[in-house]
Amino acid sequence: MKFQATPNHYTGLIDRYRSRLPLSADTLAISLGEGNTPLIRLSNLVKTTGKNVDIYVKYEGLNPTGSFKDRGMTMAVTKAVEAGSKAIICASTGNTSAAAAAYAARAGIKAFVLIPEGKIAMGKLAQAMMYGAITMQIRGNFDDGMQLVKDVAAKTNVTIVNSINPYRLQGQKTASFEIIEELGRAPDYHALPVGNAGNITAHWIGYTESAIQSGEHTTNACSFCEGSCQFTGEPIIAKDSRPKMLGFQADGSAPFMRGAPVKDPETIATAIRIGNPQSWSQAHEVMKESGGWFGELPDSEILNTQLLLASLEGVFCEPASAASVAGVLRDVKSGKIPEGSTIVCTLTGNGLKDPDTAMELSKDAVRLTIDATLDQVNQSILNHL
Ligand SMILES: *Cc1c(COP(=O)(O)O)cnc(C)c1O
Repeated sequence: MKFQATPNHYTGLIDRYRSRLPLSADTLAISLGEGNTPLIRLSNLVKTTGKNVDIYVKYEGLNPTGSFKDRGMTMAVTKAVEAGSKAIICASTGNTSAAAAAYAARAGIKAFVLIPEGKIAMGKLAQAMMYGAITMQIRGNFDDGMQLVKDVAAKTNVTIVNSINPYRLQGQKTASFEIIEELGRAPDYHALPVGNAGNITAHWIGYTESAIQSGEHTTNACSFCEGSCQFTGEPIIAKDSRPKMLGFQADGSAPFMRGAPVKDPETIATAIRIGNPQSWSQAHEVMKESGGWFGELPDSEILNTQLLLASLEGVFCEPASAASVAGVLRDVKSGKIPEGSTIVCTLTGNGLKDPDTAMELSKDAVRLTIDATLDQVNQSILNHL
């Protein structure tokens, strides 16, 4: 018996946004129901700034494999399968390999993943292995792995699913669509942690396409209307219809702040431990067009924000993700982001990915070992009420 999904059955971002993605009507989607993540308005953490701003977090850690990489991977794998590819490959700090492995399993093709030995969070390694990827732990960092992937893919018939695969950014741009739908407009600022800078570029594509769609399309037809008008000039984008984009890095791994690649990047936020960003020029374009900026934070501030997000808001993200909120809180406090602003921070990955860092960070949490008696439970409650 074949069940037909009801209109209420969410089946992923390809089905939801197919007309805004480079796909034909009958391309079979390889999907795990990614996208449609919560946009949560922060409350307690904002009060600590003493400023009047609205901060939302887009909780991408609730995607099927626990990070935003699923948005890109559903597109990359869908297109790879459509083109007849039997294998995909990526270099990864962990989350790309988890997503690649899962979507490859779903599609029935092989995934090869290169990860830096000893420098990926435990949950991510467990995912790659569980989903059945062929895992290569390299004695080197992400940047070394990326170069190897490019070299091998040039000679072998495997599809690269790193963010240099253009379909990755196409899938990831849908996060901007969702934010605009939920807020009713684009935010004033959008902050992301930056590694290769694929995601910040993808968000800018999404905001730009939305701005064009909602622009003066009827009176000033544009080249984006799929042939129904004659206009071939620059599309019209309403002023202030897109956010200023903010990209935050860890100070030990901040090539955008140094203005050049960093040779030996180091940070506890392993997802953004990248010294040679693949979307270098795109990210600079984003900053120029949006009027935003890059910033850097010490690991201590990133971790402190990760802990505060969990303990004051109930939102558990991984260390790299907290860089977006840490940067925004700092720039709100200093006044660089003015009062009255609406800000969205992307929380790129789930805190459960990296239990080792979380256990260390929360080691001062109250954790009692007691006898299994009513008396000891009662006493523990009284001591802490
Ligand atoms: C991949 C990743 C990033 C960095 O995204 P880029 O597109 O490489 O800039 C940030 N945080 C997490 C959790 C990630 O997995």
